[in-house]
Amino acid sequence: MKILFYDTKSYDRESFEACLQNFPGITIEYTKSDLDPRTAALAEGFDAVCAFVSSDVGTQTLEILHARGIRLLLMRCAGFNNVDLETTGKYGIRVMRVPGYSPEAVAEHAMALALASNRRLYKAYNKVRENDFSLSGLMGFNFYQKTAGIIGTGKIGAAMCRICRGFGMKVIAYDVYENQSLKDFVEYVPLDQLLSDSDVISLHCPLMDSTYHMINIDTIRKMKDGVILVNTSRGALVKTDDLIEGIRMHKFAGVGLDVYEEETNNVFEDRSDEILEHSTTARLLSFPNVMITSHQGFFTREALEAIASTTLQNAMDFLAGKESPNDVKS
Ligand code: NAD
Repeated sequence: MKILFYDTKSYDRESFEACLQNFPGITIEYTKSDLDPRTAALAEGFDAVCAFVSSDVGTQTLEILHARGIRLLLMRCAGFNNVDLETTGKYGIRVMRVPGYSPEAVAEHAMALALASNRRLYKAYNKVRENDFSLSGLMGFNFYQKTAGIIGTGKIGAAMCRICRGFGMKVIAYDVYENQSLKDFVEYVPLDQLLSDSDVISLHCPLMDSTYHMINIDTIRKMKDGVILVNTSRGALVKTDDLIEGIRMHKFAGVGLDVYEEETNNVFEDRSDEILEHSTTARLLSFPNVMITSHQGFFTREALEAIASTTLQNAMDFLAGKESPNDVKS
């Protein structure tokens, strides 16, 4: 099977090449171009294409892929909202994805953001580099015996609960469904109680109509003064203007964000200039107690290995004509 791999980054190529030796019979050609109607014709002579959340897999692209004989679309990510499933169904193009790769990668990054903003590590790092060894402005608080409030206890939220327990924290959670695997050490509480009782709040629920802007000025007012807020989930869970108002009200000891409202779909792109051009993100960066990273929560060796091996296993299942839980139904 010949796969054309779109939107290739050097780390994608490394992880897929390392994995490929376990999948004889599959070859991959890599292109830096992302998949869209202008680049779909490159797939001539291939059996499958591998695409990502940033790819445009809409009707026009799929028509071109179908005309070039493509029968398999391998999404190397969990999301597939950029794929026109009606058209894949119409042309019999099978769509497969990687539903979960490394929840611990994201949860560990969430804890890193909480710790770094609590102890002002970014400020400490810069001060010492400037030969300033004073401790002013660096005081934090112990996490030990404090309360962690986890919103959303699916795969990543559950991993975050386990990490917080390891720190000796009391762990409370809010979710629309209770995760039974956590029942020994997590207490489920109503959202308002989580907001008012937590010293560290970490968001791990998906972005949906019901969760859009769930952190807004009303919910922020219900939080404890001096709380730490972490968002590694989706930017629009937080209403940025209200967050800025909350920061101005000195509500937060620290805010750690891996995602932000102005983010584009291109989560793998180098967006350093873009961030600075964006107004509310730049406003957030102007506060000394805010730390922002660039949607890197998933970005560990283990997660990339899992993405590569699952994607290639998906291709093998296709070749063997086997059904898979990773199939995206049209
Ligand atoms: P998951 O589906 O395993 O868990 C989501 C949980 O949220 C579920 O338990 C669900 O019941 C809960 N939920 C749904 N609606 C809710 C609501 N209104 N209030 C509270 N909880 C609610 O998903 P996951 O794999 O744990 O991923 C969580 C999120 O992390 C994803 O939606 C994605 O946005 C984000 N993510 C970020 C990165 C990153 O690199 N920063 C990487 C992967 C995923």
